[in-house]
Amino acid sequence: MNIKPEHYPIVGENLLQAIKDTLGDAATDDIMTAWEKAYGVIADVFIDVEQEMYHEVSSQTGGWTGFRNFTVEKKVKESDVITSFYLKPEDQGLLPEFKPGNYITVKADIPGEPYTHLRQYSMSDAPGKDYFRISVKREDSIDDNPEGVVSNYLHNQVEEGDVLPISAPGGDFYLDTTSEKPLVLLSGGVGQTPMLSMLNTVVRKQPNRPVYYIHAAQNSAVHGLRKEVQNISNEHLQVQSFTCYSEPLADDQYDLEGYVNLNWMKEIIPSNDCDFYFCGPEGFMKVVKQSLSDWNVPDEQINYEFFGPNVEL
Ligand SMILES: Cc1cc2nc3c(=O)[nH]c(=O)nc-3n(C[C@H](O)[C@H](O)[C@H](O)COP(=O)(O)OP(=O)(O)OC[C@H]3O[C@@H](n4cnc5c(N)ncnc54)[C@H](O)[C@@H]3O)c2cc1C
Repeated sequence: MNIKPEHYPIVGENLLQAIKDTLGDAATDDIMTAWEKAYGVIADVFIDVEQEMYHEVSSQTGGWTGFRNFTVEKKVKESDVITSFYLKPEDQGLLPEFKPGNYITVKADIPGEPYTHLRQYSMSDAPGKDYFRISVKREDSIDDNPEGVVSNYLHNQVEEGDVLPISAPGGDFYLDTTSEKPLVLLSGGVGQTPMLSMLNTVVRKQPNRPVYYIHAAQNSAVHGLRKEVQNISNEHLQVQSFTCYSEPLADDQYDLEGYVNLNWMKEIIPSNDCDFYFCGPEGFMKVVKQSLSDWNVPDEQINYEFFGPNVEL
């Protein structure tokens, strides 16, 4: 999880409560005070590091600190597992001009849950609208693992008209709109969300910049926002979009069956002198990163984001 300064009090409360629950009677006042102090020291270090970036976001027009209440204006099912939420500020005030690729943090106080949960969701639409859109994949229970807490809460309990506290947008993964190099946006599964924000932005801001939009999914049943990408590539000649399905259904239309690989990328992308942005599951990210290295793409043209803890690619 990426934690911003305004999250620390909640994380601290949750942490101290979890320590108390775990230690039971052993959680004496002295021990709890020591934990509280240790947490304070660690939090202060991170706060200092992040303060500058955070200030930049919260001080711009429409920005805010901490959490601001947003009303769910519209909830749209995008696939069997992905649902979009259109969020408008409850106070009807202005929204900041976020960078395509930025994410917000949702604060979920779920009825019956002992802890407040914080989760990040990337903007899936361009900035400059009177709403924020996030698109959330429902994390189902697999084998003995429990279902995802917040994604299921959003899918199953949050309805149009409900209010969600969210942080101002931030993050250091965003589209550089000053570069004019051809742009390659690669995504796997719900890793598509920041790419869509970039796609929706580039067609508006850089109408002459060639864009190769490559999306990998299991099949059409779980491929969210496909129509939106199709419409954009039909309306904007600068955009070429490609789909790769690992387990296509009988009537599915796609460009490649299997997994994204370097040979295929070389067939559809004219040269390695492009700006590459990618996001998706770990296996997808590893293959893409390795492919770009094998293709001698300079490091400064490779940009990526993890939807979980950073791992070595
Ligand atoms: C910068 C950033 C941007 C993001 N953008 C998006 C986005 O646009 N859309 C999106 O859908 N997600 C996005 N995410 C991911 C999102 O923040 C959540 O991590 C995701 O929704 C899962 O949260 P959850 O509460 O549903 O699952 P959690 O409850 O956090 O569980 C996560 C997974 O772990 C499994 N799990 C839970 N407990 C256990 C256990 N004890 N043992 C083994 N497995 C377990 C669950 O089954 C689930 O699959 C983003 C993350 C980051 C960091």
